[in-house]
Amino acid sequence: MNEPLKLGVIGDPIAHSKSPIMHNAALRERGIAGDYTALHVKPHDLEEMISKMREEGYRGINVTIPHKEHVMPYLDELSEEARRIGAVNTIINDAGRLIGRNTDGIGYVRSLKEEAAGELQGRRIVVLGAGGAARGIIYALAAEQPQRITLLNRTVERAEALAREWSDLAEISALPMTEAKTAIQDADLVINTTSIGMHPHTDSIPLDIEWLKGTEIVSDLIYNPLETRLLQSAKAKGCVAHGGLGMFVYQGAYAFEYWTGVSAPIEVMRNAVLADMKL
Ligand code: NAP
Repeated sequence: MNEPLKLGVIGDPIAHSKSPIMHNAALRERGIAGDYTALHVKPHDLEEMISKMREEGYRGINVTIPHKEHVMPYLDELSEEARRIGAVNTIINDAGRLIGRNTDGIGYVRSLKEEAAGELQGRRIVVLGAGGAARGIIYALAAEQPQRITLLNRTVERAEALAREWSDLAEISALPMTEAKTAIQDADLVINTTSIGMHPHTDSIPLDIEWLKGTEIVSDLIYNPLETRLLQSAKAKGCVAHGGLGMFVYQGAYAFEYWTGVSAPIEVMRNAVLADMKL
């Protein structure tokens, strides 16, 4: 008989994480013996914790803030996407070899395609923000052959650096926020990756809603609240609204599939998170 699967998530803080509830529900649904636990790891304990997980035979580890970049030197191998994004959110222990991957970007794109957009090929995409979450999703969006990706960020230099770094992947350019109106009016899909509108600042909105006249889809990475003011206003303008919960569920689904080799029960995972949020 197989040993129960040892899985977990490391972060600081970690108590708020919905990953244990989501993954334990998935394990139960698929009849897989195992346990997924939240582990509070301070930055100075990171290296020791990774060695311990190796010794104790953990099959999989999710990595969250603030360890996504710092964990990389302690791993044996990095996937192409983790190396280029510069962050790891999923570790797979393959017979003692720790492999770092990044499922945030591909999780987001799977959620966007399945829940709102269908194909992304040929789309004109505007991404607001150029932080950690934006890196993962822009990398994954670039693989979908969009017509172009325009990055808008408060600190334009950050967006410019990203556009330069990934100019080999797709037609990517950067603009300052003063150009936001023109860029958004000329886009099919607008994605907010900034934290504007996140709890407790739920009245804030990252753009002027009047600019969305021709936009087909508005997506927001935030999932607390589940529907941001941006999404509510976009819906009222006739746009399709796509929230951030799916990104969280699908990044977990990819990790679950890497660890178990079994397809992830998406709706069970989503419902487990939703039920916990409503408590
Ligand atoms: P981050 O690395 O700190 O980046 C924040 C981004 O927001 C930067 O581009 C920053 O611009 C911009 N920003 C922040 N406050 C702003 C303000 N007042 N005005 C204009 N721009 C502002 O954060 P992150 O990790 O990328 O996370 C961003 C959001 O994504 C958060 O809301 C987070 O909850 C969400 N997220 C969701 C998921 C999911 O699973 N759904 C996963 C990861 C993150 P500057 O460069 O100018 O500072």
